[in-house]
Amino acid sequence: MNFEKKAVLITGGARGIGRSIAERLHAGGANIAVVDVNVDAAKGTAAELSAKGVKCIGFECNVTKTDQCDAAIETTLKEFGKLDILINNAGITQDGLLIRMSDEQWDAVIAINLTGAFKMSRAAAKTMMKARSGAIVNIASVVALIGNPGQANYCSSKAGLLGLTKSTARELAPRGIRVNAVAPGFIQTAMTDKLTEEQRKALAAQIPLGKLGLPADVAATVAFLASDDAAYITGQCISICGGMAMA
Ligand code: NDP
Repeated sequence: MNFEKKAVLITGGARGIGRSIAERLHAGGANIAVVDVNVDAAKGTAAELSAKGVKCIGFECNVTKTDQCDAAIETTLKEFGKLDILINNAGITQDGLLIRMSDEQWDAVIAINLTGAFKMSRAAAKTMMKARSGAIVNIASVVALIGNPGQANYCSSKAGLLGLTKSTARELAPRGIRVNAVAPGFIQTAMTDKLTEEQRKALAAQIPLGKLGLPADVAATVAFLASDDAAYITGQCISICGGMAMA
C-alpha cells in the first residue's frame, strides 16, 4: 500500500501494536509522528524509522491531557504540513473483578482508552475538516464485542470506542473523513507477555485459528483501513482475532 506523502500520527506508537503500525505505514512511505507518554521510547522509535528513509518525529503526548493532544496535532502540522491519518492506539489494562474494582482502576482505563481517543479525534478533526479528507482508525478489542470477566473497565472503554467510531464516522463523512476501528484478539505484545505458558495454551484452545496473533497482523488491517483502498469504508469494525468473534 502506498502512503507516500501521507502524514500520520499514532498514539502510544513507541512499542507493541502502535510501533508495528508505524513500521508498516512508514514502509509504505508515510511521515509518522510517534507520540507516547514514554517520550524516550517515542523518540527512539522515530529515530529508528527515520534512519530507514522518510522522516519521522517522536515526542511526548499523554492522551489524557487536552493541551498535549492539541499540541501533538499542531506539532505534526508544523513538521509535515498536514495530517492525513490518525491512529488512536494508546491503551492500558487494569484488570480486576467487578466487586473489587476501584474507582481509580475504572477511571484510569476509561480516561486513556476512550476519553483519550475522543480528545485526539476532536483535535485531528479540526484540521481534517478544513482539508476535507482524512482517515481515523481506532484500536478497540475483540472483548468489546464478547466481554471478558475481570475487564469491566477495559471492555467498556473499548465498546465505547466503537460508539465513538460510528458517531464520528457519521458526523465526519460529509467532510470526506473516514473513521473505522479494528478489534484485535489476543496479540503477542507486552500486554500478553504477562501470561504463563499454561494460560497461553488455554487461550490458544479458545481461538479457532489456534494461536495468538502478531502485531503485524493488526498493522496490516489498520494499513488497509487507513489507505485509499478502503475509500468506501467508514463506521466499520474489523476483528483480527483468529475467529474468536464472528459477526
Ligand atoms: P503496549 O502496552 O505494548 O503499548 C501501549 C503504548 O501506549 C505504550 O507505549 C504505552 O506507554 C502507551 N501509553 C500508555 N498510556 C498512554 C497515554 N496516556 N498516552 C499516550 N500513550 C500511552 O500495548 P499493546 O501494543 O498491546 O496495545 C496497543 C493497543 O491495542 C491498545 O489500545 C490495546 O488496548 C489494544 N489491544 C491490544 C491487544 C493485545 O493482545 N496486546 C488486544 C486487543 C487490543 P508505556 O510504555 O509508558 O506504558
